Amino acid sequence: MSAAVIDGKAFAATLRARIADFAATFEQSAGRKAGLAVVLVGEDPASQVYVASKAKQTVECGMASFEHRLPAETGQAELIALVDQLNADPAVDGILVQLPLPAHLDEQAVVERISPDKDVDGLTPISTGRLALGLPGLVPCTPLGSLMLLKDQLGSLSGLNAVVIGRSILVGKPMAQLLLAESCTVTIAHSRTKDLADVVRRADIVVAAVGRPEMVKGDWIKPGATVIDVGINRLPPAEGAAKGRLVGDVDYAEAAQVAGAITPVPGGVGPMTIAVLLRNALVAAHRNAGVALAEGAL
Ligand code: NDP
Repeated sequence: MSAAVIDGKAFAATLRARIADFAATFEQSAGRKAGLAVVLVGEDPASQVYVASKAKQTVECGMASFEHRLPAETGQAELIALVDQLNADPAVDGILVQLPLPAHLDEQAVVERISPDKDVDGLTPISTGRLALGLPGLVPCTPLGSLMLLKDQLGSLSGLNAVVIGRSILVGKPMAQLLLAESCTVTIAHSRTKDLADVVRRADIVVAAVGRPEMVKGDWIKPGATVIDVGINRLPPAEGAAKGRLVGDVDYAEAAQVAGAITPVPGGVGPMTIAVLLRNALVAAHRNAGVALAEGAL
């Protein structure tokens, strides 16, 4: 058997097209564009690429992009002052502070300062609490994107056994909450989980968010299960190559023989993250401007 490939790149493109339509309607209703501000402190090369890509896609979707690039030596007070300024700016609907921040900055304090109404990364305690309580709010982009792919593939998730490997604030925990809200029976596995392979073998849905290349093997997968591979890991370069291959947390070649459907790396969950960020910014814009948006429209 060979698994269906879940094409996150295509799904993200369709989502961005829908966002562009809704962004245009929003602009007509609100008399302004929806706006997303991205704050980058320092010169981390990967973060620079992400921020440039976010800004480009924001503009392509017909939204306003506000980029704030600050030097690595920026102090806590200065960064907090910028967050306060963006919180108060009516042209800004979403604020994303690119993580990780340089070590001298208090990341948690900066994230907590972001207004929950503009928290497009869904990482403030208020957003996290709203998700746990089942209240409307903004949800972290990568897990929400993963859920969209799952629902597109499976329809109703009700009653399915889901195993999430990883319990980070960014991915594992919100993913588990989202699956629970869909009435899955959810197990959260982590580095202390005993007999992980056996735990994973019970899963109709496996979400791997670990950061360990190809850790989940084919014989861990229940035949027909749906596998969402969040991991992005770069292998050491092969001889003569400048860069190593990107792989997920799942051994794709093995798992694809057993699973019913699986996300590839790259081209699976990765492209969904920025698309959902834009979606979150536009949802926030509707709420902030008091413009109606049908539940589930985006
Ligand atoms: P973290 O490092 O914050 O969390 C990793 C989790 O994996 C932890 O909960 C850890 O357990 C668990 N873990 C580590 N080793 C094992 C093991 N041997 N067995 C079982 N569980 C283990 O990572 P993130 O959640 O931020 O990211 C996970 C992966 O997803 C990374 O590869 C990252 O690059 C990728 N990612 C991809 C995104 C995308 O856009 N596609 C976005 C965000 C992340 P414990 O808590 O016990 O330490």
